[in-house]
Amino acid sequence: MWTRDTAPPRPGVPSPATDRATLVLAPNAGAWTFEGTNTWVLAEPGDDVCAVLDPGPDDDDHLAAILAAAGERRVVAVLVSHAHPDHAELAPRLAAVTGAPVRAAHHRLTDEPLRDDDVLRVGALTVRVLHTPGHTGDSLCFLLPDEGSVLTGDTVLGGGSPIVKPGRLGQFFDSLDRLSEVLAAPGSVILPGHGPALPDPLAQIERRRAARLRRVDQVVDAVASGIEDPDDLVDHLYPDLHPELRVAARISVEAVLAHVQTDPDPVPS
Ligand SMILES: [Zn+2]
Repeated sequence: MWTRDTAPPRPGVPSPATDRATLVLAPNAGAWTFEGTNTWVLAEPGDDVCAVLDPGPDDDDHLAAILAAAGERRVVAVLVSHAHPDHAELAPRLAAVTGAPVRAAHHRLTDEPLRDDDVLRVGALTVRVLHTPGHTGDSLCFLLPDEGSVLTGDTVLGGGSPIVKPGRLGQFFDSLDRLSEVLAAPGSVILPGHGPALPDPLAQIERRRAARLRRVDQVVDAVASGIEDPDDLVDHLYPDLHPELRVAARISVEAVLAHVQTDPDPVPS
């Protein structure tokens, strides 16, 4: 399993993470995608079918790597955590090649959108769907109840913090609460959409919640000191920002501004 203490696998080389989840790292490393998108092949051990979660970018080598990782197993579902292209772009092609349906929450990707608490059967594997809006409105997490792992897409990353769109910060805190509930079982692990697996999920969720609350406090303090323009707030709060991430920082600042303007008590209970 790729964790914070080990090096990432090479793109395209299957890397088992748990008994039921194998990582195939996509070749799309970048400022927004970290080491690349984590594509997951999910199957009950010994089964002859599997699902692919987050096929990733439309890339011939990555498609071949996913099919090689599936091996003899038939792909019966193409799952997507959210409609961003670094997760979803290859989904239609993988579906066409395998004959498997695309399952996602976004109606752009499927005629039959997934909903909260849907239970999917992939052969003998059970997959429970959790609607976890925040990063996007259509963000889903997928729980494998037989082993307690949760595939979190971009809701919880292996490192760093996801963009949360303006108007969705309250939902994001609610989604972290929801994940804390399902990740309380012993042996639970977070398998994120980017970055290494997190074998200490509750501590990691608390760290992320605390970091986000700190950011809320910093914006509130900066606004109180007279810095109100979003671009000025970005300069103030992210002094060493990589230029490619400026858009992301500005969205984050706007999300906090929207959150504190709509909620007089922005710290969730
Ligand atoms: Zn992503």
